[in-house]
Amino acid sequence: SAQIIDGKRIASERANVLRKRVTKFVAVNGAPPALAVVLVGSDPASAIYVRRKGEQCQAVGIESIQHRLPHDTTEASLLYLIAQLNRDAGVHGMLVQLPLPAHIGADKVLAAIDPDKDVDGFHVTNAGQLALGKPRLAPCTPLGCMLLLRELGTELRGKHAVVIGRSTIVGRPMAQLLLIADCTVTIAHRHTTDLAALCRAADIVVSAVGIPALVRGDWIRPGAIVIDVGINRVPDPRSGTGATRIVGDVAFEEAVGHAGAITPVPGGVGPMTISCLLENTLQAAELIEGRLAGTLG
Ligand code: NAD
Repeated sequence: SAQIIDGKRIASERANVLRKRVTKFVAVNGAPPALAVVLVGSDPASAIYVRRKGEQCQAVGIESIQHRLPHDTTEASLLYLIAQLNRDAGVHGMLVQLPLPAHIGADKVLAAIDPDKDVDGFHVTNAGQLALGKPRLAPCTPLGCMLLLRELGTELRGKHAVVIGRSTIVGRPMAQLLLIADCTVTIAHRHTTDLAALCRAADIVVSAVGIPALVRGDWIRPGAIVIDVGINRVPDPRSGTGATRIVGDVAFEEAVGHAGAITPVPGGVGPMTISCLLENTLQAAELIEGRLAGTLG
């Protein structure tokens, strides 16, 4: 049976290392790295994510600045806040929680963020750097998946990786990072025919779709690595009370009998995403403060 990749444990080990790096940063710069998170509206899932980001920041000593704006915030006033945060020398990293309300253009908002503070890695400049094979700030979820793969210690060079999903926040940047790691990469999406056959040829399957049990156990080649990014809420059959639970895209109980290693949901990729957000924030802070020190003396 497969090795279960414990993202929760790996993220907590990384948090211990990060805490020490943050302490060192404070000693050198006199103030902690600071992450500004902007939430527009009251989407309950987004509110939970934003709260967790704040808690995790504080746990490693990063200052968390949260801006909660009402649902009817105009695009202009959001852009104004971003411009202020861009100028604020005390803010090193910034992200706008997605999805945004429909009346606000997400592309315009993401483009307004200073690429040097873009800890989500969604700005076109950072996406472009990644596509050129020279990542600066890369998206947190795919970065977290790469860390899990590295943690396994298996050679990635020459491995055939199948990435299911081509979104700009997960699938695409995931494929770019695997390419940088010298994998042979296939990107599958909603129009892909015979996904099963593609997966059966894969050494590594990364699924980022959002459909429970899309990937079946017999699609997994014996010994392959399975990274399940999907987060899906489904009725919990063990409870008669209409309770729900979270599952991934992979039929875990089936796949665990085929895979060499597999991430659970929850407790696999999820904790690594926040871990990478914190690391991106420290990286941005080190770059910004390093440059300031350079120009000032
Ligand atoms: P998205 O909806 O933007 O993209 C989904 C992708 O899946 C699309 O590219 C689409 O072409 C593809 N797809 C849809 N149906 C398919 C099918 N039948 N076969 C193959 N491909 C198909 O979603 P996203 O933002 O990329 O997120 C994907 C999943 O990952 C969601 O469940 C989301 O909740 C989860 N997620 C998890 C984390 C984390 O931290 N663990 C972070 C981000 C997203």
